[in-house]
Amino acid sequence: MLRLLLALCLLIAGCSNPDPLTHQTRYMMGTLVEFSLYGAKRSTAESAINAAAEEMTRVEKLFTTHHASPVAQFNRGKGALPDEVAQLLVISEQIRQQSGGAFHIGLGALNRVWGFSDDQATNRTLPTLKQVAALLPPAQCVVKKDGEWQLVDRRCQLDFGGIAKGYAIDRGIAVLQAHHIRNAIINAGGDMRIIGQRGDKKWRIGIRHPRQADQVVATLELAGDISVVTSGDYERFVIRDGRRYHHILDPSTGEPAMRAMSATVISPHSATLADGWSTALFVRGRAGLNPLQQAGMIGLVVDRYGKIDSSPAMRQWMVPHGKR
Ligand code: ADP
Ligand code: MG
Repeated sequence: MLRLLLALCLLIAGCSNPDPLTHQTRYMMGTLVEFSLYGAKRSTAESAINAAAEEMTRVEKLFTTHHASPVAQFNRGKGALPDEVAQLLVISEQIRQQSGGAFHIGLGALNRVWGFSDDQATNRTLPTLKQVAALLPPAQCVVKKDGEWQLVDRRCQLDFGGIAKGYAIDRGIAVLQAHHIRNAIINAGGDMRIIGQRGDKKWRIGIRHPRQADQVVATLELAGDISVVTSGDYERFVIRDGRRYHHILDPSTGEPAMRAMSATVISPHSATLADGWSTALFVRGRAGLNPLQQAGMIGLVVDRYGKIDSSPAMRQWMVPHGKR
């Protein structure tokens, strides 16, 4: 009986012959977000994507520092953090501690004075050393008093730009899974989480070269549940007197970090952790690989001279050159 049922199911699946890949692109979080779903019926896939995109937009609004967002209010000393924001704050603080201070959630005031989040203008004036020194926050910016998070200092302003995109990707995947999607990628401008497979094949992805946009530093084949996030100095930057100024700051100096051109983190499951750690790894350069591995992830760094270093375990995912 069971065998008969099974045969019937296989037959039905075969007959309905669903188009295996549903692909959609949306503009969100300041970047193009690609949804690729494999093996689901087109209508199921499309409503799952709609719901995931809606959830990711909700997350984007929750964590932005613009307008009257909860984070902006908190930074002005008005109101407590919503629980969901407080949860990401706790994760951020843990990454700060484990990364030796390289990931710092309290750099909002400095990020604003550098101005890389606001616009693409290349003719803006960069802050003076004095301005930077005046806004450089202490190592720890948040404390919990009477059950509520508080900023310790007026130099401290929360900015979730280094981790919120990863969290949005995780929420998007959770919504896809709630819609019974088993095989998918959500790729937000090169930051992605992968679940399942592409039929009988693994998903194949490339990590772009930080200076040659059409070249990759590695090609990976991945399956199961895994996140890959890259931080780089090539998307928002200006060059002045031969030096590249960009949007990832070294919390020890308040200046754009100088040890890497790009840093990629691979994490089982969590795109949130991969995102936070990719920022931390970028700041620390190759020295960040050790704490990253201790935290259960692996990474790849292209240093300021273009030299590539990676965790030994990275090799298991890499497609050899000849096979690309
Ligand atoms: P992207 O936004 O390009 O994906 P990242 O994930 O590395 O890159 O995040 C960079 C953003 O994180 C900056 O725009 C800023 O908002 C914030 N940021 C900058 N430096 C740090 C840092 N050292 N720690 C945490 N967040 C940072
Ligand atoms: Mg990041």
